[in-house]
Amino acid sequence: MRHPYGSEKDACWGGRGFQFQSEDQRLWLERMGERGWTAPSWPSEYGGGGLDREHAKILKKEMARINARPALYSFGINMLGPALLKYANQEQKKHFLPQIVRGEIRWCQGYSEPNAGSDLASLQAPLEDKGDHYLLNGSKVWTSYGDKGDWMFCLVRTDGDASKHEGISFVLFDMETPGIKARPIKLISGRSPFCEVFFDNVKIPKDQLVGELNKGWSIAKYLLTHEREMISWTGLTQAGAKSLGEIARQNSPSRNGILDDTFLRADVTRLEMDELAFALTIERARDETRAGVSLGAVSSWFKYYGTELNKRRHDLLMDIHGSRSLPWEGEGNEDGKIPRDWLRTKGNSIEGGTSEIQLNIVAKRILGLPS
Ligand SMILES: Cc1cc2nc3c(=O)[nH]c(=O)nc-3n(C[C@H](O)[C@H](O)[C@H](O)COP(=O)(O)OP(=O)(O)OC[C@H]3O[C@@H](n4cnc5c(N)ncnc54)[C@H](O)[C@@H]3O)c2cc1C
Repeated sequence: MRHPYGSEKDACWGGRGFQFQSEDQRLWLERMGERGWTAPSWPSEYGGGGLDREHAKILKKEMARINARPALYSFGINMLGPALLKYANQEQKKHFLPQIVRGEIRWCQGYSEPNAGSDLASLQAPLEDKGDHYLLNGSKVWTSYGDKGDWMFCLVRTDGDASKHEGISFVLFDMETPGIKARPIKLISGRSPFCEVFFDNVKIPKDQLVGELNKGWSIAKYLLTHEREMISWTGLTQAGAKSLGEIARQNSPSRNGILDDTFLRADVTRLEMDELAFALTIERARDETRAGVSLGAVSSWFKYYGTELNKRRHDLLMDIHGSRSLPWEGEGNEDGKIPRDWLRTKGNSIEGGTSEIQLNIVAKRILGLPS
């Protein structure tokens, strides 16, 4: 586990059906989960590491120093968990959070619908109160890993007459509940990381509603700030991974470690400087969040900048490899990793809210410009 993340199969997502690539991968998750170090700063009463911000920072640095791969990639830890810590009741926290820390539940996110993407509050999937349970109908779209998730956290319409932000609720349910069907959608890259999900009279126990009925929009927005921060990490080079400069030197003509192509040299240098400045800014913001300051709209700025930076990095990788970037299949080029990863970066600036939407939020909430 002391090698940088190479391809998707290196990522451990945990959950009921997860196929571990090796015994090491399984053990790494188990050991990190036991100590709560998959969620180092969550309270230990919910299975987290219970570390204060200084210790959490030290743990992160030590893990980077030994090139340790993350033990768990998890929407539960990076998206749902913070929302549960803030909005769930004590039983829900006690039940779900320790399972999330140990990587026992893989979550998917049911937010977008065919007519509710950027304008998320227009979502329609109706959840009806049937006395002793709820009944869910409608559909979701672009659900990442909708076919692999064990449970979904989902936004539903519980009051069709209220203004659009008012009648939304936040529920959790098991994807094996009868009446749920997930259909993968194929991307231009040939991969199918997301699905359409259909609900046909899905029975949901009432204790799986998080927060108050019709008050789900606040939870949705809070969760999105964490999602946006998570996606912004795509702008940072993974711990232990080669820098763009090293890759360029290995793959383009250079003398004494200096790239011959002055334009490429300038582009790589500019990107590495921007990335360093971004990493330091993120680090400062993390210190602030550990000190209890909410990221709020700043997460939109990070998401915008990180994903645009990642697109620039992959554009440059395509340039550096020249015609070797083009083959789509075959062992020599890891089944087209370079062009497929380049295509995937386009999705980063759409998922979690598009770049245009992040700029709208920055304009309104940070710069105070009129709508
Ligand atoms: C890789 C990937 C994974 C995803 N995973 C999930 C998931 O797990 N769960 C989930 O619920 N959703 C997921 N999504 C969906 C994602 O959240 C939506 O695609 C996104 O919010 C945009 O919505 P839309 O696709 O309906 O585009 P639209 O809202 O139709 O936008 C189309 C275009 O119009 C622009 N636009 C729209 N409104 C404005 C405005 N007010 N001002 C300026 N420009 C505007 C947008 O920026 C965009 O360029 C995923 C998407 C991708 C690409």
